[in-house]
Amino acid sequence: MVDQTRLAVTKGELGPICDHCGELMTFGESMVIDAQYVCWECYQKSTGAEPSTDSSENPGLPIH
Ligand SMILES: [Zn+2]
Repeated sequence: MVDQTRLAVTKGELGPICDHCGELMTFGESMVIDAQYVCWECYQKSTGAEPSTDSSENPGLPIH
């Protein structure tokens, strides 16, 4: 169930508001933690997840 008070119009479409920092998002940008909408940055901080695109230390993936 979507809490209508946590939604706002951003970028021309209705989307959720980050529960941690108040960032306006589209549904495509939002992540969900414990039924709360959070932005990707807050999701990373909450979960400790790292973007896989930053794996420059990985010797198994040669960069060309
Ligand atoms: Zn946030």
